[in-house]
Amino acid sequence: MQISKECRILACKGPLNDDMFTTGEKLIGKKLEEALIFEICEAVSACLQPALQTLDMHFFEYFVNTNRFYEIKIVVIDHEKILAIISNISEFKQAAKTVRHLAYHDTLTGLPNRALFNDRLQQAIARAERDKKMFAILFLDLDNFKQVNDTLGHTAGDGLLKSVAERLRLGVRLTDNLSHITEDYSFTLARIGGDEFILLLNNIESVEAPAQVAGRILKLLAEPFEIGPDEVFVTTSIGIAVCPLDGKHVDTLLINADVAMYQAKNYGKNRYQYYSKSMNEYAHERFTVETKLRKALSQGEFMLFYQPQVSIQTGKLIGVEALIRWLQPDLALTRPADFIPLAEKTGLIIPMGEWILRTACEQSKLWRKAGIEGLLITVNVSSIQFQQDNFTETLYKIMEETGIEPGTLQIELTETALMNDSEKNIKKLLGLQTMGIQISIDDFGTGYSSLKYLKHFPLSTLKIDHSFVQQLESSSNDQAIVSAIITLAHNFNLKVIAEGVEKTGQLDFLRECGCEGVQGYLICPPSDPDVLTKFMKKSNFF
Ligand code: C2E
Ligand code: CA
Ligand code: CA
Repeated sequence: MQISKECRILACKGPLNDDMFTTGEKLIGKKLEEALIFEICEAVSACLQPALQTLDMHFFEYFVNTNRFYEIKIVVIDHEKILAIISNISEFKQAAKTVRHLAYHDTLTGLPNRALFNDRLQQAIARAERDKKMFAILFLDLDNFKQVNDTLGHTAGDGLLKSVAERLRLGVRLTDNLSHITEDYSFTLARIGGDEFILLLNNIESVEAPAQVAGRILKLLAEPFEIGPDEVFVTTSIGIAVCPLDGKHVDTLLINADVAMYQAKNYGKNRYQYYSKSMNEYAHERFTVETKLRKALSQGEFMLFYQPQVSIQTGKLIGVEALIRWLQPDLALTRPADFIPLAEKTGLIIPMGEWILRTACEQSKLWRKAGIEGLLITVNVSSIQFQQDNFTETLYKIMEETGIEPGTLQIELTETALMNDSEKNIKKLLGLQTMGIQISIDDFGTGYSSLKYLKHFPLSTLKIDHSFVQQLESSSNDQAIVSAIITLAHNFNLKVIAEGVEKTGQLDFLRECGCEGVQGYLICPPSDPDVLTKFMKKSNFF
């Protein structure tokens, strides 16, 4: 098509095409927009003037929508006119796309094939290295596919593979209530051989994540498949390799996942297996404990004990600290130091922490009913819980619902909880303060021990960690630290409570330094609230 510099058609040749032309010869003398569909007209006009000026040849591909592609070649004849050669290359493009798809996908299931998987794996390795993140590959091999193929025939076998692929594809996508999976989790599922599938899980938060997914896959495939008139049962063995722990190269990771898969077969099939044995045991143990924790929370296996805090000067009760206890049927793992970190890691600390706060507030009311007025209850709040944006609202709601007496609740935070984003934390603490909540700093001296926040944060109490109290009678170093902490705290108008006080010698030293309160076995161990009620009626604890 020859076009003048005024965008009029001078000559037109070639097959008429409903994409581009209304009619052929009649176009001569017409404006370009009367001849060409809008998008192409725009494209040609846009390069008309530059082409006329530079006398350069222009050549480009233009697409109208996902299915329609054009190749436009513009040859300048002289300063007055150009020749535009416009070809619809949609079919060619589509063919190229199909070929590309074929090269990277398995024709039976439509899933990515080994070539595409290797590509994705390579990308995942680079990303994991750059972002310092982990990812996992799960190598799946159906346990009894050959048998199905042999007894029901190839068509049934193919049908089964298709159904397995579909179930996997849909099932892996459902990530809800998988606690170790991050939000930007993504995956690639590929079929890499007869009955072999492989799954790449990006961005896992912990080594337990693939175990959760593997567990889900085993369950998914346990349901029977309907293949024609038959109901077919299949199981699968899964090998797991985690990058970078089990390798940082495509081949190593694939081999290690494969080795792990064979081990899963050796151990009896229909199971998953991590590449490294120790990792496997670790993840398995963590996974069981997590499941147990979840169950414990929903079945009420936790309870709060309370430990009295007593004034050194008067011997009177100042308040109590709530300490969680896990009443496990088999009595294992009852120490909070063992399960609190795990609850933090899995996010379970959020519902657990809410339960703790609510239970403590309810207990406070029970004590008030029993005639123990104005008792300060201190609740340990994990930094993860404190950092939640809705922490204040949640706490407010709990206080409203339980009707706890204002001014009788104290939360105990560690230094670490306050260090990040201190501006935000100050605001949060001020908000809590206006709700009548007191703030105590736990384990002082073991973390940052920064003077800065003592000055800026609205705190009321500082707790000296028991590690400084333990050797207080004999260690002059600890004596110096304890007396310094007390002086410092008093400078900032904070009360001091020493924890883990077991001996009268320790108590005597603390009294000399002007420490306000003590807590420890010397006075009373953490106890069941009913037991404690009688104890609280005592007027002097020394
Ligand atoms: P913590 O807040 O520093 O609690 C004081 C720990 O010292 C408690 O251990 C308590 O039982 C223990 N203790 C009390 N008196 C003595 C004593 O005279 N000598 C010795 N050696 N120890 C004494 P517990 O109950 O095992 O709790 C350990 C840690 O677990 C707590 O340290 C706290 O960080 C965490 N924790 C306990 N309950 C909760 C809770 O309800 N929520 C949260 N977030 N953390 C909790
Ligand atoms: Ca504490
Ligand atoms: Ca402490």
